[in-house]
Amino acid sequence: MSAIESSPSTDIRTILEKQRAAFLAREPYSCDERCELLDRAIGLLVNHEQEIVEALTADFGHRSPGFSKGSEVLSPLATLKQTKAELAEWMRPEQRQARVGEAWVQYQPLGVVGIVTAWNVPGYMVFSGLAGALAAGNRVMIKPSEFTPHTSALIARLIRSVYDEDEVAVIVGGAEVGQTFCSQPFDHLLFTGATSIGKHVLRAAADNLVPVTLELGGKSPTIISRTADFKDAVAKVVIGKLLNAGQLCVAPDYVFVPQESVDAFIAVAKAVVAGFFPTLKDNPEYTSIINARHYERLQGYLSEAREAGVELIELNAAAEDFNEGARNKIVPTLLRNPGDELQIMQDEIFGPLLPIIPYDAISEVVARINARPRPLALYYFGHDAAEEALVLTRTCSGGVTLNGVLSHASTEGLPFGGVGQSGMGAYHGIDGFRTFSHAKAVLRTAANPA
Ligand code: NAD
Repeated sequence: MSAIESSPSTDIRTILEKQRAAFLAREPYSCDERCELLDRAIGLLVNHEQEIVEALTADFGHRSPGFSKGSEVLSPLATLKQTKAELAEWMRPEQRQARVGEAWVQYQPLGVVGIVTAWNVPGYMVFSGLAGALAAGNRVMIKPSEFTPHTSALIARLIRSVYDEDEVAVIVGGAEVGQTFCSQPFDHLLFTGATSIGKHVLRAAADNLVPVTLELGGKSPTIISRTADFKDAVAKVVIGKLLNAGQLCVAPDYVFVPQESVDAFIAVAKAVVAGFFPTLKDNPEYTSIINARHYERLQGYLSEAREAGVELIELNAAAEDFNEGARNKIVPTLLRNPGDELQIMQDEIFGPLLPIIPYDAISEVVARINARPRPLALYYFGHDAAEEALVLTRTCSGGVTLNGVLSHASTEGLPFGGVGQSGMGAYHGIDGFRTFSHAKAVLRTAANPA
């Protein structure tokens, strides 16, 4: 599958040692030096936008160029620029109360940060992780996904063109290389990927007591209240679900709809998708599933649901035949009330399939969400303050967007991370700076009386 050769495991340790030696050999990078390192990443995104978009298209087969530009270039670019703008403020020591003397917290670089990324938005994950780790003054080693070989090879080449190996290095390869990478004695490890793999990563890191930030996935529920602007809500959920063909960690996974509104949800969803995607099969704006394995996985959910008698509603306005030449594209499909025992209601879907779960009372919705592992994201559409407060206080997810989807994850001022099975720790903005820094407690005792 991989079009790039794996980095040998001896290289991983050699580079780590080289980076650590370089880190210890001099004073921590100043604010200006960190900004200059960030500028080099900015230059890469500005100067190689087209190559990045093309590499992603090659990896996915079909991928919306607009989405690639937005998510893999413009979004991390905005992150890097904002990081630069706020860095001096973040680096400032914080005065704290002390009974005697002077107390403060001083943020210090940790040393060498390892970053392992997933395939679904590879440019975004590499460059936003890099922004936080460099801002905090660290050296960085990155292991991107083997599922996007063109993009990973390009990122490796670009990084090499502007950073010395002891500043930032890219290690390429698959799961085995990932295992070796995660068992290194980094000063911090940021892992983005599946919950099942996150458990292995945490175990591997434990041997060296490496602190870990786990950015995992899960089933992110969406609730449409009886008080929602219904058409607006349905449009946002469906379009949000179809971005990157549902292959986003914060994609709405399944949606709770008042039972009397399920038919209306289906009708609005059909109209919305027909408007955005009059055709799908050759439409470059409609993204393919990353590979045959994930395509088969999604088809398996549909087959099982069909056999169980679940109604499947295809959102295929031009009634195109997807049996041939669809290059791993999957017809956006709604599933009416699939049972919890079906695989589609057990796994994170990560594709353009949307189960609709009818409900009577919001308390029932909260109970059903709480019966599952804590999700990465949760979406609530509605205008009832008491209901909104109930959802916010009685459910626990990594983050929430109200009357929208996905957006909290791209709001740099907010920490981004999961809770429970959807992850631990957070990054983005100042939260990333702090994750990749050591908050050193310093007390200067009061001077002794002469
Ligand atoms: P994955 O866990 O299979 O792979 C992620 C990375 O881990 C890859 O670089 C891979 O080579 C490496 N890897 C694989 N096995 C490993 C092991 N045993 N030890 C160490 N490293 C190993 O995930 P994926 O399929 O690439 O991505 C999809 C998952 O990632 C979904 O669950 C999605 O929700 C999640 N995700 C989360 C976020 C987030 O920020 N929370 C963002 C994107 C994707």
